[in-house]
Amino acid sequence: INTSDDYKPLLEERKQHIGRNLSISYQQPLKIWKGALQYLYDEKGRTYIDCVNNVSHVGHCHPAVVAAIQRQAARLNTNTRYLYDDLVAYAKELTATLPGELKVCYFTNSGSEANDLAIRMSRHFTKQKDVIVLDHAYHGTSTVAMELSPYKFDGKGGFGKPPHTHKAVNPDLYRGEFRYGQENAGAAYAEDVANIIARLSAEGKGVAAFICETLLGVGGQIPLPAGYLEKVYQHVRAAGGVCIADEVQVGFGRVGSCFWGFELQEVVPDIVVLGKPIGNGHPLAAVVTTPAIAAAFNNGMEYFNTFGGNPVSMATGRAVLKAIQEEEMQQHALDTGAYFLKGLKQLMQKHPIIGDVRGHGLFIGAELVRSRETLEPAVPEIDVVVEKMKDRGFLISTDGPLHNVLKIKPPLVFNKENADALLMHLDMVLGELSYPGN
Ligand code: PMP
Repeated sequence: INTSDDYKPLLEERKQHIGRNLSISYQQPLKIWKGALQYLYDEKGRTYIDCVNNVSHVGHCHPAVVAAIQRQAARLNTNTRYLYDDLVAYAKELTATLPGELKVCYFTNSGSEANDLAIRMSRHFTKQKDVIVLDHAYHGTSTVAMELSPYKFDGKGGFGKPPHTHKAVNPDLYRGEFRYGQENAGAAYAEDVANIIARLSAEGKGVAAFICETLLGVGGQIPLPAGYLEKVYQHVRAAGGVCIADEVQVGFGRVGSCFWGFELQEVVPDIVVLGKPIGNGHPLAAVVTTPAIAAAFNNGMEYFNTFGGNPVSMATGRAVLKAIQEEEMQQHALDTGAYFLKGLKQLMQKHPIIGDVRGHGLFIGAELVRSRETLEPAVPEIDVVVEKMKDRGFLISTDGPLHNVLKIKPPLVFNKENADALLMHLDMVLGELSYPGN
């Protein structure tokens, strides 16, 4: 279907009235008008399987979530200065899913705002300013979050690395210095963080925080090597710093074997940052921390957030959590993810362009390379794959510093039939592809 002419007027008006540094997906943009669970429908009635939207966590327009939003929006929406039950009820339900002392919630409207707040808290608590991040990371679009995001400050139009931000190397077992099969690779990568801390200390500086995603998203769909966070958190805490886990992309049962990504590493962060899936598309995010850090933040300055924690958001958050639990979506993510990963590994044997497949639960990446020896990224081949998959009704996307990782992180209701169909079509598209060696 050639839709480009139909949408020309809309695209023109969009150019005039919407900031242009917002790209649109696909050469021929989609005009989606309806969603239902893992399916999206365009204006022409075509159906797509959404294989990439980790925001619509329990499914697009999940009926119980929609009903909760409607009910509360029709009754009351105001700010958190009045008493209402859902605020406390949700904070209790949310913190019940978190271990240890992670008991105090701050609700915001976006992941960026939540990361921004987490950094501010760490600075109050430690009285330090410097922050350690992972290279290629993205933590959001506010000014502070951008300062945590090499993906932005090192990229086009970026302002460069701020002096108080320090980049640790990505613990990438496929391309990095320490690779699959190397013993203690996690601890070896953690040494880079220890070295940064030592350099800061030599300059008479401490560390406010270390922040990283618990599986790297923009960094290239990379699970952290075993033992990595245990070691990093030890180094950071020994230096008096706070450990922040950005769970914005991976939290809420997506990784399958546990509810939170950090649990794959057997650590307990001092602050967790939640976003995207938490409201299933409703703008809600959160910072959860310990009473000690919350006490240090309560330093006399009021913290008020007009929309954060409003009754509609709280009703939404509760409905999302309930849907995950009642519909056993974490177990479903584990089973479907393992099934899909197995199929992807079979495709890897057939198609040399797939250099690596990795992931946990329904957070999966396939790295495309032109050669398994040189690891040359398969660009632009990957863009052809994404476009052709769209034409076949599957929405997938790319990520990674070299733009060569296919990312698959569908709503958790994505099922084995969807996985079979996706694998079958991916097999055909990869078979049609021309690249060196095919
Ligand atoms: N952290 C991570 C890991 C993210 O992927 C994102 C968004 N892509 C953010 C934070 C920022 O969240 P938001 O867009 O809701 O501000």
